[in-house]
Amino acid sequence: MTTAIPSSLARLPELAYNLWYSWNPSAQALFSRIHPQLWEQLQHNPVRLLQEVTSEALEAFAKDTAFLRQYEQVLQQWDAYREAGTWFGDTYPQHTQQAIAYFCAEFGFHESLPIYSGGLGILAGDHCKSASDLGIPFIGIGLLYKKGYFKQRIDAEGGQQAEYVTYDFTKLPILPVYAPRTKAANEEAEQLTVALQVSDRTVKLKVWAAEVGRIRVYLLDADVEGNSPWDRELTAQLYGGTQDTRIAQEIVLGIGGIKALRALDIPVGAYHINEGHAAFLTFERLREQLDQGLPFHVALELVRASTVFTTHTPVPAGHDAFPMPMYEYYFRGFFPGYEAQRDTFTQLGYDPDKNLFNMTHLALNTSAIRGGVSKLHGQVSRDMFRKFHGNIDANEVPIGHITNGIHLSTWLAPELKELYGRFLPGHWQSQQADPEQWSAIEHLPAEWLWSAHRQLKEKLIRHARENLAEQCRRTGQSAGRIEEAQRSLSPDALTIGFARRFATYKRANLIFSDLSRLDRLVNHPERPIQFLFAGKAHPADHPGQELIREIHRVSQLAPFRGKVVVLENYDTSLARYLVQGVDVWLNNPRRPYEASGTSGQKAAMNGVINFSVLDGWWEEGYDGTNGWSIYANNEADWETQERENKESIYQLLEHEIAPLYYQESPVPTPWVSRMKRSIQTLAPKYNTDRMVMDYTNDTYLPSLRRTEHLSADAFAEATKVADYKRFIQQHWHKVRIIEVNDGTSARQPALPVDRLKDVTATVKFGPVWFKDTAVELLYYEEHPDAWRQVIVTMEPARQLDDSSVIYHAMIPAHLKHGPHFSVRVLPISENFARRFELPLVTTF
Ligand SMILES: *Cc1c(COP(=O)(O)O)cnc(C)c1O
Repeated sequence: MTTAIPSSLARLPELAYNLWYSWNPSAQALFSRIHPQLWEQLQHNPVRLLQEVTSEALEAFAKDTAFLRQYEQVLQQWDAYREAGTWFGDTYPQHTQQAIAYFCAEFGFHESLPIYSGGLGILAGDHCKSASDLGIPFIGIGLLYKKGYFKQRIDAEGGQQAEYVTYDFTKLPILPVYAPRTKAANEEAEQLTVALQVSDRTVKLKVWAAEVGRIRVYLLDADVEGNSPWDRELTAQLYGGTQDTRIAQEIVLGIGGIKALRALDIPVGAYHINEGHAAFLTFERLREQLDQGLPFHVALELVRASTVFTTHTPVPAGHDAFPMPMYEYYFRGFFPGYEAQRDTFTQLGYDPDKNLFNMTHLALNTSAIRGGVSKLHGQVSRDMFRKFHGNIDANEVPIGHITNGIHLSTWLAPELKELYGRFLPGHWQSQQADPEQWSAIEHLPAEWLWSAHRQLKEKLIRHARENLAEQCRRTGQSAGRIEEAQRSLSPDALTIGFARRFATYKRANLIFSDLSRLDRLVNHPERPIQFLFAGKAHPADHPGQELIREIHRVSQLAPFRGKVVVLENYDTSLARYLVQGVDVWLNNPRRPYEASGTSGQKAAMNGVINFSVLDGWWEEGYDGTNGWSIYANNEADWETQERENKESIYQLLEHEIAPLYYQESPVPTPWVSRMKRSIQTLAPKYNTDRMVMDYTNDTYLPSLRRTEHLSADAFAEATKVADYKRFIQQHWHKVRIIEVNDGTSARQPALPVDRLKDVTATVKFGPVWFKDTAVELLYYEEHPDAWRQVIVTMEPARQLDDSSVIYHAMIPAHLKHGPHFSVRVLPISENFARRFELPLVTTF
């Protein structure tokens, strides 16, 4: 702090150093009031604001009663927030002692803390905010990037310029962390550092913390004196550098993160690997268990029990995999002392097909509970990772899903929050995941909702014009062009937003496939449409940057000038303007590559209507009344799907979307009805409160409980389960289905469908106890939409000898073994985390 804080405003720094401000408009308004221009200039960063504002100005506010009143109100809200009872406290009072540690390579809380790139980071930030709101004992672990991600500038030709800013950490809303056991009282407290091996070098990491409401996110920083120059750059850039940088960063995140938790002495009950980047945390935890004297297989059992893994993309390039020599080089310093287990460690992430060390494989092999980020993505992931689970159907693969959401208070426009609050029940925000709370949206008068929306649209347009004018000034364009930028876009025109990373699968240029058709839409005499685009392409993604250039080129053509615009530097601030201010949110990825997508969820809460391919979250969110779906036959080849998507986009814009928007004026009541449907049906479901409650109920708590169970009595259960699994694995090849008798002979005609018959199977178990298995009969039943798998559990009927048992089941009489049904045996145990825990299924 450089500016002295007057005593009557003593708690301002407390507010500035807690990211609670990022989802509380009243706190933002307070800081903005201190110096509106500085507030805008400094990326809404209150720490810098307090450093740069003059002490005279602060002194004046310290005596300004209106300001003091506002300050007191914000503090009251802040105190009330921290003291309020919470969902977790009410639901799981017995589980408040152990934290959930959530590891992620990026966290997107707010533009004032630029350590995120896109969707993954925003999701992680929103996850933490809801964890705070819900009172979950929760800790985030991430990296503190000296140069963050890049700032994007777009040049006169539409080229993306990546600008790197070197951040001074003392100017960010983060604080150094001090060692918990401080030394003698007279010694200066020193910032906590932890050390780890990266290859054969010792790398020191400084530990920082971001306060996020009630929770903390610890951030690791390798720019420490004494580290080699290369190591000091390790945490310089998010997703920057080479593959060498990446693997070293992931070692810092996973292994360094665990070391930081230990240095802080924080009891952790479960670990969440949020995307494969963080999976090395399991290596460090395995090593800790080995140091305790546990054998590897028992250590692995414990680590798996307490690890939750979320995978975030079906795009192959999104799954980090490193050449084996690179992996071996960077783990040179890890294995001394553990040479005997080296291969066993390595096997956990080894992909024999590609001869690479794969982070997703590591995560899958070391977590008992795994999932994708939408229903469709769960399905796609089960297909992708089926080979890990032996001979079972894709739908049986033990990978689930919890659909992503967004943090409502962060993304909902304050104007709308205020308006909703007038109609919804008193607790609507704290009970936002309850659909009942939202039913009164219906009673919102159309004029009011429309007028609030219109205000947000005008705000967006003012912001967009300034963004465009700034591009013109910087690229040295004429005064005429700057003035033109300031007149671009119209608040009366139907406005469509498209903002996301410029990754090629998101197909940002789809709408430009037929420029004359687009021209007729944009320049329609009664029903004009305008488009706003924004997004960054990864600096190494040249096809992605080509997309920006192409859209920029179209935006400069006479028919589209001022009506199709490309805004630069998409960040959380620009995202808020867009998702709150456009009329329609367009999303047209190549299905099924958009694992979830979250920007459309932000739009939906704000009454912005989704117009999207049925991919990711929209596949389950769309109900026929709350937006539009872009058609394609998903079974067709990609060219056909792309052609059908394009045609569908134009058709819907021409015949449904524009006509509905312009049907009535000045208040387009039929349009507003659809806005309400969108809010009412989507807001209760696609928020992070619902998501984090799902994670807590379905993954964190089961992990905590099972880990406790396995750890009791000096890991007695863990040892039992691990030994048992090893035994099963060694002897499973002796389990054989000898014979299946379906009561028919080959020549006998098929029997009617409505009759049942008794089927038997003789199973030889060898040394495996038959009660440790399930014998199942499987067949497929035709339903109008698809063939569905039917599983019948067979019951033991008669024991033949010590190791052979005859099982039976009643099934429809027309089914024959071989063509119609099969029988399988699989190991089961109530101490397993789930079905198909072992990839051992014997089918006959
Ligand atoms: C929400 C958000 C994203 C993610 O949007 P998707 O729809 O998942 O692509 C990316 N960047 C920013 C700045 C966001 O706010």
